[in-house]
Amino acid sequence: MTLARTLASFGVHCLLAERNPTTTRHPKMDITNGRSMELFRRLGLADKLRAVAVPEENCFDISWITSLARDKGGRELHRFRYPSVAEKRAEIRNRNDGTQPREPAMRVSQVIIEPVLQNAVVNHPFVEARWGVAFEDFVQDGEGVTATLRDSKTGIVEQVRCDYLAGCDGGSSVVRERLGIALDGRAAVAHRYMIHFQSDARELLQAFGVAWHYQTDKGTLIAQDDKDTWTLQTRPPPGGESDGIDPNPILDAWAGRTFPRKILVANPWFTHLLLADRYGQGRVFLAGDAAHQYIPTGGYGMNTGIGDAIDLGWKLAATVRGVASPALLASYERERRPVGLRNRAASGRHTDVRIKIAELYQKERDPDALARGIAALGNAENESWGIEFGYRYDGVEGDPLVYEPTTAPGARLPSTFLHDGSALYDRLGPWFTLLRFGDADPSSLIDAAPAPLETVIVDDPAVAPIYEAKLVLVRPDTHVAWRGNACPDGAAVWRRILNGELG
Ligand SMILES: Cc1cc2nc3c(=O)[nH]c(=O)nc-3n(C[C@H](O)[C@H](O)[C@H](O)COP(=O)(O)OP(=O)(O)OC[C@H]3O[C@@H](n4cnc5c(N)ncnc54)[C@H](O)[C@@H]3O)c2cc1C
Repeated sequence: MTLARTLASFGVHCLLAERNPTTTRHPKMDITNGRSMELFRRLGLADKLRAVAVPEENCFDISWITSLARDKGGRELHRFRYPSVAEKRAEIRNRNDGTQPREPAMRVSQVIIEPVLQNAVVNHPFVEARWGVAFEDFVQDGEGVTATLRDSKTGIVEQVRCDYLAGCDGGSSVVRERLGIALDGRAAVAHRYMIHFQSDARELLQAFGVAWHYQTDKGTLIAQDDKDTWTLQTRPPPGGESDGIDPNPILDAWAGRTFPRKILVANPWFTHLLLADRYGQGRVFLAGDAAHQYIPTGGYGMNTGIGDAIDLGWKLAATVRGVASPALLASYERERRPVGLRNRAASGRHTDVRIKIAELYQKERDPDALARGIAALGNAENESWGIEFGYRYDGVEGDPLVYEPTTAPGARLPSTFLHDGSALYDRLGPWFTLLRFGDADPSSLIDAAPAPLETVIVDDPAVAPIYEAKLVLVRPDTHVAWRGNACPDGAAVWRRILNGELG
């Protein structure tokens, strides 16, 4: 849906085929990180998403507990405190040193976010969005791709001719399978059990106050709206390999006592740490879980997929509109697969911390010592700003925990507010943007521009040093394409960029 919306925003027609008749009932993701929110903002979706998300005043705290049942001695061991969206917005404005995102993260479940994205494509004149239509197969040739689709209800088969095909079809991607692309890494790392339910028993489910997650060695209770919708991610009971598990005793055991609730969905599932060997072939590409599957620690699954969709989206649009050479599309895998690899490693590291904490629960009898142990192990899974914002397309890896603002070509453009109160990110054009700080002459880049280009003169000495050069050329995905203090040969710069190279 994000890719379809991206293509549409560039005026490119596309067809989206989704085999299911509706969006998902499975809550799955519960954190849309700040980077995804910046990108959704560019697609005009941030406000629509915020409108259905957890209220902006609510915190993102992670609380480790012994049990929710305070009357049976349950206690909070350690709370990792994180600001609400409203508090984070204030921090972003106050710091204004380039280290901050344009948008704070957002708490929302996949059940809630998907209909907003669906609306964003269903009513878009450039998207033919078809739910209840499964992709079955394709053949490609030098000019395009012929895809075979089947109506999930009537079984009627049709063939569709397109210029390109993107398999955004999840972990069991048929597109990936038809391309013969293998997955590298560890499948079925752990067996998990998910219980999504409604309950008004806030005196129990918020026993130690509002928190985003309550965690024990046996699992995580996710507050989906801080009101009445919750998800427990835990382990299946021993021998519980099939779907025939009763979620009720599992829920009671985790909470410490029984309480009124309505189960919405419950099912076992497996975690994976997998990465596709290639991100496509010829005119066919993979994005999202089709290309990578992670353990949810860190919340990198969907967020990495959003990054894929934005990168692939502008490159497809530039190619279809004839402003780029096919080499630009080859840079999709070169740029995104290393990010997929890095995020897989980060997800694995965060899981290792959870395992260490679970071991502490088993070992440590003194709750105060356990609490100190948890605090010492930390919560990097919600603090890896280098992973979320510091990924670069020039091969430089950087610290996973720290985001260092830079305009090195390939890095994400740092976000700042200008002295008139406007955000630099909000002044970027939909395609390329040339930022001019000071007196550099931008004319050779402007005159040679083969793609739409907006020029923004930034007359703001307070933020200029953050951007490290007098001219910074920004791509549609807000990564830096090129920078310099002068540009004698703009045509050469554009040639490189639209060939998929960095400046
Ligand atoms: C418990 C859990 C918690 C998670 N938490 C987070 C989190 O906090 N943050 C985060 O970023 N990620 C999280 N994730 C991961 C996130 O859910 C996935 O990464 C994300 O859904 C991937 O999106 P996708 O569009 O690539 O694939 P999917 O969401 O799997 O969507 C693929 C779609 O393609 C459709 N499809 C499949 N095959 C076909 C076909 N042949 N024809 C037509 N349609 C087809 C499917 O029906 C599906 O709707 C979590 C996952 C789990 C399981």
